[in-house]
Amino acid sequence: MNADNHGAPRISGTRLWSRLMEMAEIGATAHGGCNRQALTDGDHQGRRLFGRWAAAAGCALRVDAIGNLFVRRPGRDPALPVVMTGSHLDTQPTGGKFDGIYGVLAGLEVIESLNERSIETTHPIEVAVWCNEEGCRFPAAMMGSAVWSNRMALASAHALTDRAGRSVRQELERLGVDVASPMSRQAVKAAFEVHIEQGPVLEQRAKTIGVVTGVQHMSRHEVIVLGQEAHAGPTPMDMRKDPVRVLAEVLPAMYAIAARHGRDARFTVGIIETEPGSPNTVPGRLRFTVDLRHPDGAQYRSLRGEIDGLVRAALERQALEGSMRCVWEAPGVVFAPACVAAVRNAAAALGGEARDIVSGAGHDSCNTAAVVPTSMIFVPCAGGLSHNEAESAAPADLETGANVLMHAMLSLAN
Ligand SMILES: [Zn+2]
Repeated sequence: MNADNHGAPRISGTRLWSRLMEMAEIGATAHGGCNRQALTDGDHQGRRLFGRWAAAAGCALRVDAIGNLFVRRPGRDPALPVVMTGSHLDTQPTGGKFDGIYGVLAGLEVIESLNERSIETTHPIEVAVWCNEEGCRFPAAMMGSAVWSNRMALASAHALTDRAGRSVRQELERLGVDVASPMSRQAVKAAFEVHIEQGPVLEQRAKTIGVVTGVQHMSRHEVIVLGQEAHAGPTPMDMRKDPVRVLAEVLPAMYAIAARHGRDARFTVGIIETEPGSPNTVPGRLRFTVDLRHPDGAQYRSLRGEIDGLVRAALERQALEGSMRCVWEAPGVVFAPACVAAVRNAAAALGGEARDIVSGAGHDSCNTAAVVPTSMIFVPCAGGLSHNEAESAAPADLETGANVLMHAMLSLAN
């Protein structure tokens, strides 16, 4: 398939860009970013703007009980499962113009472009706007897709509250969503999501398209070591119970273990705290966090096991009490081979420079992948920067990504 062959359709890069910029005016921040946190007036305004565009493109709109918005372009056979794409319109408090929004508007571009060419598909096409992906206002990231995928109970999601004590349910009702409507999951043949990478790999390797094969395994751990507070002057070194000695011992060894697990291993100590936190007192308590990630399941488990063993051994050697516990774990996701192949083939057909990539961040697609065949497409973003007002992406890359999305969807919609 190429541009001239059978008039293969192309999305409009200029319309995509101008809509991204128009959407970015809603909740625009001082430094060029966006603040449209989930279920705020700004989020609602963004969703309504998208809804107007979708309705003008002839789509039917539907909102479910957790606030996910679905727009549908009919196929020749309405009984067939839909080929879906989607992402989110909500942002971080100092978010960018592209994270999530790009995926939603690229989906709309697919519909607009098929309309322009009067191309019918056998399967219906749907674009999903997942509610509260960011999880910053209401503390559950990827909330709407989690409920849709049956990974979170509707009642638990409705009960989530923001810092002002307002619940998801109250906010949905305020914005006119029928929270009592029964949750029903439409039949889906395949689901795709196009997203900025939010990391530096594609840009550094000069690739336009990331064929996302899955999402890495991730976990967060907390290490607590108990010592004994003592005066930093009179107390000889060999008469202290100093919890920092455990950190001193394990830290270089942990970096070495991470290095042994290859370039894909991720090891981060993001918090180190001592109590009481005084320069001339040996701490009585040390707390530090360890974030571990690896795309390969066996490597991930080995990394986790070795780090765990290291902490235990250090506690024993230093004769200090303490523990390491896992506070959060997200299993890795392997995307559906048929969807990954559809993306790879579309990228090859369109002549984009593509490479396989594993997502380092969570996405709505992690949830949909649990119940329907799913995969993702990444495009580069400047400096790998995201969750930042300066988030930026090249119009040409966004256009290519949306074209790859369209052709991957078309290959499964007929
Ligand atoms: Zn996102």
